[in-house]
Amino acid sequence: MTKDLRDNLDPKDWAAYRSMAHDLLDQAMDHVESAFDRPVWKPIPKDLKRNLANEPLPVEGMAMDRLGQRVAEDLMAYGNGNTHPRFFGWVHGTGTAGGVISEMMAAAMNTNMGGRDHAPIYVERQVIEWCRQIFGLPEEAGGLLVSGTSMATLLSLATARKRHVPRIEELGMDGLERPLCLYVSDQAHNCIAKAATALGFAKHSVRRVRTSDQGAMDIAELEAMIRNDRADGLEPFFVVATAGSVNTGSFDNINSIAAVANKNELWLHVDGAFGGLVKLSETHNHLCQGIERAHSIAFDFHKWLHVPYAVGCVLIRDKRWQLDAFSERPDYLADQERGLAAGNPWFCEMGLELSRGFLALKVWMTLKEHGLKRLGEMITKNCAQARYLTRLVETSSVLELLSPTASNITNFRYHPETSLSSNALDQLNTEIVMRLQENGVAAPSTTKIGGVTSIRVNMTNHRTEMSDMDLLVKAVESEGLSLTTQAQAAVP
Ligand SMILES: *Cc1c(COP(=O)(O)O)cnc(C)c1O
Repeated sequence: MTKDLRDNLDPKDWAAYRSMAHDLLDQAMDHVESAFDRPVWKPIPKDLKRNLANEPLPVEGMAMDRLGQRVAEDLMAYGNGNTHPRFFGWVHGTGTAGGVISEMMAAAMNTNMGGRDHAPIYVERQVIEWCRQIFGLPEEAGGLLVSGTSMATLLSLATARKRHVPRIEELGMDGLERPLCLYVSDQAHNCIAKAATALGFAKHSVRRVRTSDQGAMDIAELEAMIRNDRADGLEPFFVVATAGSVNTGSFDNINSIAAVANKNELWLHVDGAFGGLVKLSETHNHLCQGIERAHSIAFDFHKWLHVPYAVGCVLIRDKRWQLDAFSERPDYLADQERGLAAGNPWFCEMGLELSRGFLALKVWMTLKEHGLKRLGEMITKNCAQARYLTRLVETSSVLELLSPTASNITNFRYHPETSLSSNALDQLNTEIVMRLQENGVAAPSTTKIGGVTSIRVNMTNHRTEMSDMDLLVKAVESEGLSLTTQAQAAVP
């Protein structure tokens, strides 16, 4: 059959389609190149919001060029903002031009990474092996790429539970002799509690350990809690060290927690979602000392390594533990010694998902394109920017630093000499952040530090420059001033 008589979803006119695709690639590259020239964020027009979520079912198709235009006009213009140099909210990665290319190449292959024997499988194995080397885990360690640290945490906890209770499938959580419990600091990310409850742990089995002023887990408190919990009939089995807390960027002392874990035979998990990657920074890698002692590590490529969303990783100290927890091969997935069904073990035996995308390609390409040295320099740069911002805050008469700056996150608030109530100060700082976002100047987020509202500035952004710190401080001061003078003028 000639090409144009085939009945399928391919373009009828490949040449025209190809040229249209080139145009759209140009637009995608323009979008990345012009990241500096846009407002950080723009409020979405009401009509657009309504239109985007109220269209009729697309029963008939439409031309791809019009569709591409629509994406550019309606979506790219109103994005999340994290490609911009002054996106400082939450913990978001920036993305790269190369990321666009890798996503395109991966889509062309449309690989299913659940298993079988094909070249992409070896790319994911390579990425995992590189990560093992980065964190200094032993050779028998393995892992899996997943959507992010939340999923990586779930897999770590399930693997640890299976290792601790080999008969967990038969017993279920109700059949345990003593309830299992785990330890996290009061600065730990809530993905750990979510993973625990999803796996059937009671909420109170996630024990929260107090932190010091510097935001690190109090080790004496951890030991005391373990002792008391044992005496109360609980069975401690898992402890999390946070390497880079989401609120303040603080680090637990991994070596101290590892020592306690060792003595008490607990599984040591490290949440290194963004902070684990300080391993690549010449100035800050000491914060991760001891990470090589972990039984599992969860971290993201989409945050501080700027790989396009969404991709993270779980590493397990011994790959057999992970297979023990997840490997099951029903008849329709039987392995073979040769042919396409070889390539054992399959990645679907190492986690929850059967069909999986080629996440490894964008990671592999990003690491190879820029190299670990350069990626590490970007991490170092962000930490230096957080230090610099901290100094600006400390020397300003109207700004107040709210948490120590350990890595890439600075917390502060606008706090003039006037007698504002603590409620009014909270509202003022929330308003300042909303205005900065709505004006498109900068996008920090807010959090609570010691009960007060903080302007939280997180730098996981390779496009940020030192001068952006000056600009941010000036913008906060001027919004703060105009809001407080307005408020004073309004008092009769
Ligand atoms: C972002 C983050 C997580 C969750 O990771 P996702 O990739 O969003 O699932 C967990 N822990 C910390 C410290 C984080 O910053």
